[in-house]
Amino acid sequence: MQPPFISLLLCLGLLAPLAADDKPIIDTSKSPKAILHGVPVSAVKLGDGFWTERRRVNEEVSLPTMFELLEQNGILDNFRRAAGTKDVPRRGPVYTDSDIYKWLEADAFVLQNHDNPKLRALGEGAIDTIVAAQQPDGYLNTLYVKENASKRHTRMADNHELYCLGHMLQAAVAWKRATGETKLLDSGLKMVAYLLANFGPDKKPLMEGHPEVEMALIECYREVGDKRYLELAHYLLESDPRIKLDKWSIVYHNTGRPFWERTILEGHAVRAMYACSGATDYYLETGDRRYMDALDRLWQDLTQRKMYITGGVGSRESGEAFGEPYELPNQLAYTESCAAIGEMFWQWRMLQATAEAKYMDVFERALYNGVNSGLSLKGNLYCYRNPLELIGDPEDRIRNPWYDTTCCPPNIQRVLASLPGYMYSTSTDALYVHLYHAGTLAWHLEDGTPLEVRQETNYPWSGAVTVRVNPAAEKRFTLNLRIPAWASGATLAVNGTAQPAPRPAAYAAIQRSWKRGDVVKLTLPIAPRLTAANPLVRDDVGKLAVEYGPLVYCMEGLDQPAPENVFAWTLDLRVPGAASPAAFQAQWEKDLLGGVVTLTHQAVHSPAELAREPLYAPFTAGPLNQPAGVVKLIPYYTFDNREPTTMQVWVPYTR
Ligand SMILES: [Zn+2]
Repeated sequence: MQPPFISLLLCLGLLAPLAADDKPIIDTSKSPKAILHGVPVSAVKLGDGFWTERRRVNEEVSLPTMFELLEQNGILDNFRRAAGTKDVPRRGPVYTDSDIYKWLEADAFVLQNHDNPKLRALGEGAIDTIVAAQQPDGYLNTLYVKENASKRHTRMADNHELYCLGHMLQAAVAWKRATGETKLLDSGLKMVAYLLANFGPDKKPLMEGHPEVEMALIECYREVGDKRYLELAHYLLESDPRIKLDKWSIVYHNTGRPFWERTILEGHAVRAMYACSGATDYYLETGDRRYMDALDRLWQDLTQRKMYITGGVGSRESGEAFGEPYELPNQLAYTESCAAIGEMFWQWRMLQATAEAKYMDVFERALYNGVNSGLSLKGNLYCYRNPLELIGDPEDRIRNPWYDTTCCPPNIQRVLASLPGYMYSTSTDALYVHLYHAGTLAWHLEDGTPLEVRQETNYPWSGAVTVRVNPAAEKRFTLNLRIPAWASGATLAVNGTAQPAPRPAAYAAIQRSWKRGDVVKLTLPIAPRLTAANPLVRDDVGKLAVEYGPLVYCMEGLDQPAPENVFAWTLDLRVPGAASPAAFQAQWEKDLLGGVVTLTHQAVHSPAELAREPLYAPFTAGPLNQPAGVVKLIPYYTFDNREPTTMQVWVPYTR
């Protein structure tokens, strides 16, 4: 819950946003193919609830402590070294400049929502440090300076120079939108100008071994209107035919051939998701149908064959890569936090292009589960991998304060800081509500009519949502409320009058003349439900997952009666009704894991001492006479926040 003093400060307007430009996270207001247009992060103030607590931890713990770690690990010193103000060796991997950029972008999103003088000062100092490292010709990267200056762009598949630039440009645009200051953006565009002067179809060839800069260049195009940025993004998405890569590299790096030729998701998962995001941005600006056709194919591959139930993607540690169709191992799931985040970015862009709720279903699945799991409840530990099964090995440190490759922590930070900007969109004559959370939108319809929308809800713990619609003047428009795919049986009423039953996986469109004080009541059926995987997912055969609204649940050993090993337990579905929501007990436990709804269900267990059992034994047909008990499940995002223990998302069952 939000501390009372924060609420007080918000009421008094003392934490008002700095935002100089009221622009959304991606500004599709002039994008020819965008049906939807986001609202600024500054336009949404969240009330008490699920994400407010996560965002408070992000701002008060994660961002300040990560800045200290970036300093301690020499990331800012690398810039001081490049600027000639500190004589130290360069530290960290080739791509580590991007870590401070992602942190800065997170900081900018905080400041877009409300002022935070301490974080603002840290950001301003970091920007000064970064900009001082820019070389006279515009080049800015801490690896290829001084004795390494001659190596610029010599290992384009692996050196991440454009990847780092992409993160810099995204931070710079967000910072300008937060503060009006263009120092970082001017510097980033100077590096772009250096690239345009030296590389391109009629100059030296250029490639990006880790897609990212495409998204950033297109956002710069949206911000300052220079079409050369869009063209450079297109040049990179098409790949320069003069650069010949081998087959492995084309797959792994997600580059080396025109993006639109791709038919399946393969190779490095983060690269693939960022490439899809940049390609969708390109479609939004140009309407190039080849790009959308490819994106449709890839989206089918994602959602039908390659995405975990948590929204995680990237099954394999080797190459941090997508696997074959249905290759979704639980314990060995690589599921890098950044990959699920890239998947969210892609869904958001597809949503702007189509207004189809199916993209927000994937977005919400990743957000609440496979991304949210990446930050510990206290805000100081991060997951790089987000597996769906743990064997409880104390050496298996799944949450850490720092990684040598620390891409994931500041990526999670920028998602949480920007979250209010993902809750609503507008279209020509409509407002869209994508996510449910207590809070207030203060924005306007696209014809300029000021509009306040107030949500009252305890989602995702409860499915009751009250939406108060307050246009400045009576106005006819469509209010589109997202009905999640799992929400069969949702009900809707306007000013007490029941509306037709809304369809799941769609937006419920309420078109009417809205006036101040109108009230919409949406009831989403949040109840425990059992989900089966396609039988071709071999790891999940004979198992079920438990979900509750948008949340995926898991079992941890230390919540179970003896035997505590989760792998000893099997959900008991033998009695009639045992698979129904009523067979579960849902209980709000305010003192557990920051406050969660836990679910319990009848189960049976194998012998308490599994280790005493033989490795192999004769098969016994017929009903098992196993001891019974009750198992407890917790939301997946809270896993491994206590002591090491066994954990599983997919639970065996007997019926
Ligand atoms: Zn990462």
